[in-house]
Amino acid sequence: MTPPLELAQRMEVSYFCEFGHQLTHMFAADVEPPSTWDCPRCGRVSHQGRAQPTPTRTTPRKTHWEMVCERRTTRELATMLKSRLKTLRASVSS
Ligand SMILES: [Zn+2]
Repeated sequence: MTPPLELAQRMEVSYFCEFGHQLTHMFAADVEPPSTWDCPRCGRVSHQGRAQPTPTRTTPRKTHWEMVCERRTTRELATMLKSRLKTLRASVSS
């Protein structure tokens, strides 16, 4: 009878270069992983676990009304409003 296979404890270490490229390596848990690693994509030095902050969206989302106002002139909007009011009034009076 063969003894059950014992898997060595492993840990995953991520490295990030200044361009935000991420690479991940597996190391045995009882080993001190190197603090830097060469980025395979750009050749720069990658640092352990230092993720570059991803740029956040700075422009606020536009409302539906703001998008309509961009596409239509005030005159077109007035015409649309008049037409819509006419339709609504017709449906209320009938
Ligand atoms: Zn890189």
